[in-house]
Amino acid sequence: MARQRFDALKLVELRQPITIKAPSQKVSDYFGINTFGLAIMKEQLSSDIYRRLQNAIHRGEQIDENVADAVATSLKAWAISKGVTHYTHWFQPLTGSTAEKHDAFFELNSEGMAIERFKGSALVRQEPDASSFPSGGLRQTFEARGYTAWDPTSPAFIIESGTGKTLCVPTVFVSYTGESLDNKAPLLKALERIDKAATSVCQIFDRSIEKVQASLGCEQEFFLIDRALADARPDILLTGKTLFGRIPPKGQQLDDHYFGSIPSRVTRFLQELEIEAYKLGIPVKTRHNEVAPSQFEVAPIFEEVNVANDHNQLLMDLMKKVSSRHNFRILFHEKPFEGMNGSGKHNNWSLITDKGKNLLQPSTKAKENLIFITFFINILKAVYDYSDLLRASIASESNDYRLGSNEAPPNIMSAFIGTQLFDILTELENNGDIQVKKGDNIYMKLGINKIPPILLDNTDRNRTSPFAFTGNKFEFRAVGSNANSARAMTVLNTAVANQLELFKKEVDKLIEQDEKKEVAIIDILRSYIPSVKKVVFEGNGYGPEWIKEAKRRGLSNFTDTPRALAILKKPSTGRLFKRMRIMTQAEVDARHEIRLENYTMKMQIESRVMADLALNHIAPTALRYQSILIENVKGMKDIGLGDETEETMITIKKLAKHLNQVKRLANEMTQERKRINTIEDVEEKAIAYCDDIKKKYFEDLRWHVDKLETMVDDEMWPLPKYRELLFLR
Ligand code: ADP
Ligand code: MG
Repeated sequence: MARQRFDALKLVELRQPITIKAPSQKVSDYFGINTFGLAIMKEQLSSDIYRRLQNAIHRGEQIDENVADAVATSLKAWAISKGVTHYTHWFQPLTGSTAEKHDAFFELNSEGMAIERFKGSALVRQEPDASSFPSGGLRQTFEARGYTAWDPTSPAFIIESGTGKTLCVPTVFVSYTGESLDNKAPLLKALERIDKAATSVCQIFDRSIEKVQASLGCEQEFFLIDRALADARPDILLTGKTLFGRIPPKGQQLDDHYFGSIPSRVTRFLQELEIEAYKLGIPVKTRHNEVAPSQFEVAPIFEEVNVANDHNQLLMDLMKKVSSRHNFRILFHEKPFEGMNGSGKHNNWSLITDKGKNLLQPSTKAKENLIFITFFINILKAVYDYSDLLRASIASESNDYRLGSNEAPPNIMSAFIGTQLFDILTELENNGDIQVKKGDNIYMKLGINKIPPILLDNTDRNRTSPFAFTGNKFEFRAVGSNANSARAMTVLNTAVANQLELFKKEVDKLIEQDEKKEVAIIDILRSYIPSVKKVVFEGNGYGPEWIKEAKRRGLSNFTDTPRALAILKKPSTGRLFKRMRIMTQAEVDARHEIRLENYTMKMQIESRVMADLALNHIAPTALRYQSILIENVKGMKDIGLGDETEETMITIKKLAKHLNQVKRLANEMTQERKRINTIEDVEEKAIAYCDDIKKKYFEDLRWHVDKLETMVDDEMWPLPKYRELLFLR
């Protein structure tokens, strides 16, 4: 085993940066060349077909067979002209990654001749053999199989791989009875709903607004590890994280030189990634700020949520492929290294009208600020009312390691808004019972004439917040680096849409009672402030005081996934999703079950790998080293130096102690797993894994193994060490 570590280290020594060549100096020459986007559609489709497709994209209108056939024909022609031979429906099953099934374009005609064919029906619908994707009981309950259906709002794209080129059509994945089996379908519904709700609120102010789009910019964090070193660690290979490993003494890897410049191999990787992303129309704007050693970030320019999320999923795929060409293994796990910063995927989110106005952008104009404050307060109210659901939306086995560990947002959901906006809330709250007379400046009276257009944010503090207002957008920071953002975005947009609908109703009612529009709006907003203030937190989210304070405020603090997910069982959750037509009860239940099962599976794997490493790699190594020491003591005694063996004897005893503990804990954990695996109830089982496996054994076992790492001869240690993994060249 140790040989693999040293072979890998030798390989790393010899690695050279790969030369990258861009297709052209100018990005605009090749941006989006591998996507079937609007420009090319306009060029290739008749104006009538193009208009009908546009209506489908922007107004959600049905696509008929003629449109589908016409699009399919030009899509095929375009794809074949680019050397594409296969097509696939690309979808996002509930496992959290993406899936595809490739079909060749050619079909046999009646004479048995091969002809290139791609009909509208093949574009619109495909039936993958999907029996191996999780359905949380849905498919058993309703139908045996599901199908994928075209999402025309996200452009089709070409993936190049060693074996050829494939046209990918973004799709939703549904069962025959219409239940969604993926992450995209509920998201599309939530986005449609927030469009309607936000548009209707906008129309209180401006009747010309016809559409509001939610926008998303994902900041993607990740670690890059040399492939040979990563492959010498079964824990990284099988779980995406290090299960053992002593944190090196400070200074060693936090070396200034290291931080100062990005290793050239990484720069080359980022360059190639950018090129490949641009070809796919993904507007990455790379910034590689490293928080922990070997940790990096890429962020695109924001786009409409559904497209932005498809692009993020695609980008993650691309990152895996490109990184391996550069002999890296990319880690999207939220906490691959103990004692180092974890990785998140900040979801920057805002609402933008069809006039291009960002509704979360404060303005110098008082009237526009009323719109801003309306959306701002409604969003916070939604975050308060659905904070547990938001917490559940970002819960995962791997994100559990990151949240609340004092370098990432805590488990408690709260929002940061900055002192200036906080003061405005307070002023609104205290400014009750307004009388507006003729000639009054109503906005001044309402106290909303003076929101500064540029808000100073208190960046140090807001780093600790899971949901922060950052000037003209909210940033949902609790989302994990490995997540599909669709889940968080579905909940956020549903909750806000729901709140905007309630708000609209309340305002309409007051207006019907002859209240002045602006006064009605402010009155309703004011009534929300006590709730809003409960979820707004401006202090240090890492401090232990916040846990106490949050408890006083009645905010939940779920520290593990199975318990955070329990909100999905509550009738109020089912009612929200049903009322908003996002998911049926069966769809919610299915997701709850799948996520619990996923949690259990991940825990099982982690626990198995841990026990295997401990018993088959670590313990034998420590034992061999111990034998060497014993031989040494015997030899010393033989030559009459028995008095000088004191320290070595202490080491032998210590080794024995840790070895015993490692074996005991690993064996006990395995026994415990056997018991838990017989539990039928999925939730009970997940909780048992959390409480009786993870909490009881993981830390302890790791502690003893890491102790052994400090004692055993470095030459014998089988696993690449933290300083080796994290020190990229
Ligand atoms: P930081 O969060 O470090 O201040 P930026 O301000 O550059 O970084 O933004 C980070 C991400 O937020 C980028 O992906 C950016 O495109 C996105 N973003 C900026 N404005 C908006 C917006 N109105 N809606 C959604 N995302 C946005
Ligand atoms: Mg940010």
